Amino acid sequence: MPTYKLGLDFALELDKNDDLASYKNQFHIPKDKDGNDLIYMTGNSLGLQPKITKSYVNQELEDWANLGVEGHTEAKNPWLPYHEFLTESMAHIVGAKPIEVIVMNTLTANLHFMMVSFYKPTKTRYKILIESAAFPSDKYAVESQLRHHGYDDKEGVVLWKPRKDEELLIHEDLEEILEQQGDEIALIMIGGVNYYTGQFFDLKRITKLGHKHGCVVGFDCAHGAGNVQLNLHDSGADFAVWCTYKYLNSGPGSLAGCFVHERHAHQKDLNRFTGWWSHNKHTRFNMRDEFDQLPGAEGWQLSNPPILSMAAIRASLDIFNDVGIEKLVGKSKILTGYFEFLLKELGEDVIRIITPKNEDERGCQLSIQVINADKSLHNKLTEAGIISDWREPDVIRCAPIPLYNSFVDIYNLVERLKAILNG
Ligand SMILES: *Cc1c(COP(=O)(O)O)cnc(C)c1O
Repeated sequence: MPTYKLGLDFALELDKNDDLASYKNQFHIPKDKDGNDLIYMTGNSLGLQPKITKSYVNQELEDWANLGVEGHTEAKNPWLPYHEFLTESMAHIVGAKPIEVIVMNTLTANLHFMMVSFYKPTKTRYKILIESAAFPSDKYAVESQLRHHGYDDKEGVVLWKPRKDEELLIHEDLEEILEQQGDEIALIMIGGVNYYTGQFFDLKRITKLGHKHGCVVGFDCAHGAGNVQLNLHDSGADFAVWCTYKYLNSGPGSLAGCFVHERHAHQKDLNRFTGWWSHNKHTRFNMRDEFDQLPGAEGWQLSNPPILSMAAIRASLDIFNDVGIEKLVGKSKILTGYFEFLLKELGEDVIRIITPKNEDERGCQLSIQVINADKSLHNKLTEAGIISDWREPDVIRCAPIPLYNSFVDIYNLVERLKAILNG
């Protein structure tokens, strides 16, 4: 970690020494009405478009125009096995084996499909544990699974909460909950990186703890994939899900990822919802066979997938492959460390950062509370050309993205924030 310094010269020096600086040019950066680049801090919400994406999508449009149905086998990138072109890169990004990873459906849908297989409530063990500030969609999904199985959705949810007047979660509190109620909890489902605080949990430690108490453990890694090193295989988690439109830059509403640990790959008796894409790909088109379950995460697919969306994912994964997630995370730590350093200079009586200070317990996002601020601050930031995200009651989330945010972006952001605060 460099010793951070104030001033524009230092930001320029960091950019000059940054091996990944040129990747910014590979993205379309949104502009203000005068044509100046905006400072885009919401790659945790919708990642920017790589310039190569258009050609990847166009290739499939052209093959469809020229080949019609033949494109399934004759397209430059044949559509029948198209998802396989994504698997290896995606597996590398989330730290999994190829057999453990599939790109399919959308995020909340995948979460439900995973719960169909891995939430197996019994009379005495039926509760689901989530973090108290879980992403609303995850909370709704979990509650509806409880109702679906005939349980009360209030009584059936166990919350891992922060202590009084705190925001971050403490592992020992989770241990305590499991000591007391572990044998009633069927499933632990945590956001691997919390969307609100940016806290990155120790997935392996949580999994180990959950398994010790006989619980199934799954993670929603929407804010982790492409942001931190998840090491999903090594974590031992039973399943994980994530989206590709946040840190993975694959376009609004794009398809999602899903991880099923290798130990479940050949477990054909696991209950699941199936379709023709869960069936053995060698006999799929005989159309008459008895159902023959595909092994691995692929076996959770239902439908033939949307190729145009997969083409956009493929473009983005090619960039990630080129950079390498390890290098990306390396830069990310310096970029976010620099951001934190500059914010602290504004004074701890003005700014409070709720994201963990330890760089191994966070990704790139900082969740910032500005003392006595309201939404008008966010509006002023927007007017000043900074795209950030406001969460009630008083949190601004900013995610410096190592692929396309520079150190000078961060410098300019904090200068503009300072000017607004000094009003
Ligand atoms: C972004 C996000 C979602 C959104 O779900 P979709 O099904 O993609 O609309 C759900 N959960 C978490 C944790 C998220 O960060």
